[in-house]
Amino acid sequence: MKIAGLIVAAGQGIRAGGDIPKQYQMLGDAPVLRRTVLALLPFVDGLRVVIADGHQDMYAAACGDIRLSDPIIGGTERSDSVLAGLQALSTDAPDIVLIHDAARPFVSPQIVKDLVTALTESQGAYPGIPVVDALWRDNQPVSRDGLIRAQTPQAFRFDAILAAHHAHTGNAKDDVEVAMIAGLSITNVMGDEANFKLTTPADFARAETALSGSDIRTGNGYDVHAFTVGNHVTLCGIDIPHTRSLKGHSDADVAMHAITDAIFGALAEGDIGQWFPPSDPQWKGAASDIFLRKAMERVSERGFIITHIDCTIVCEQPKIGPHAAAMRHQISAITHIPLDRISVKATTSERLGFTGREEGIAAIATATMRKL
Ligand code: MG
Repeated sequence: MKIAGLIVAAGQGIRAGGDIPKQYQMLGDAPVLRRTVLALLPFVDGLRVVIADGHQDMYAAACGDIRLSDPIIGGTERSDSVLAGLQALSTDAPDIVLIHDAARPFVSPQIVKDLVTALTESQGAYPGIPVVDALWRDNQPVSRDGLIRAQTPQAFRFDAILAAHHAHTGNAKDDVEVAMIAGLSITNVMGDEANFKLTTPADFARAETALSGSDIRTGNGYDVHAFTVGNHVTLCGIDIPHTRSLKGHSDADVAMHAITDAIFGALAEGDIGQWFPPSDPQWKGAASDIFLRKAMERVSERGFIITHIDCTIVCEQPKIGPHAAAMRHQISAITHIPLDRISVKATTSERLGFTGREEGIAAIATATMRKL
């Protein structure tokens, strides 16, 4: 069973506001059309996009790096665009076509599955949601019995919908209407409120909210510093008396360095060394909180919030346990992350390896963040 996707993106979409058609406007960090293409692509064997003439550059910017056949240039009316798309697909005709709005980036796997299943009995199927709100016209109540809000994708046996569009002369609002006029058998499957269509600025705001928190990242950081002569070590900003100190260009706060690198890692923005080159004398002896503050600044600038930090310090001496609470407080004070989302703990390495021989201290950290 060969399934093709056809995304109709030829509209001008001016109700959403802005200078460019809504399907090319940014939603989070990607244009709407790109999100819609990537949402449908896993469920089809091939996918074509119908665009308006003149939108080629915007299409290339949004989807040019996705391996798709060239976009099809649509017509003035929606049904003209769909027909152009179906004709292009007919050179290597699929069994089923899913015709989808460019402005619905949240199509779910369940809907696609249900649609394809429905086509074993019908020539067409669409996702629909029963109307539950009271309806009024001219101060008169209108019965909502049997009323359904239709969504896309709308699925059809390819040959049947191609013939229906060829025969169609009007300006149908969607492909189910074209199919019904042509007498095709149509059924509906349960739609999904999350599969809403972006039309107005309020829809974009709702979509941004729906996306928030979906970008969750973790990063790890690892650091080692060797012991040298001295009388204290600095770990997570806390000075702990010890018979030696840690050697390093800055204050050698191995734990804070690991945490900072975990954050840079989650952002995919390199590491401390790239932001604060050791070759630069201004960082000599620097308190490491400036590194951590810089990483936090990047977290905010990139629109993320850190949800958790976990740091494990590996050493035989000094004993970390009595200082762990102070370290957590200090990290919380610098980062403004709540205390119950910051973990600092320690382990020995059972006298094995360089930490076991007390040649230095290692620290490993994990940072978890999500997009706001
Ligand atoms: Mg370091």
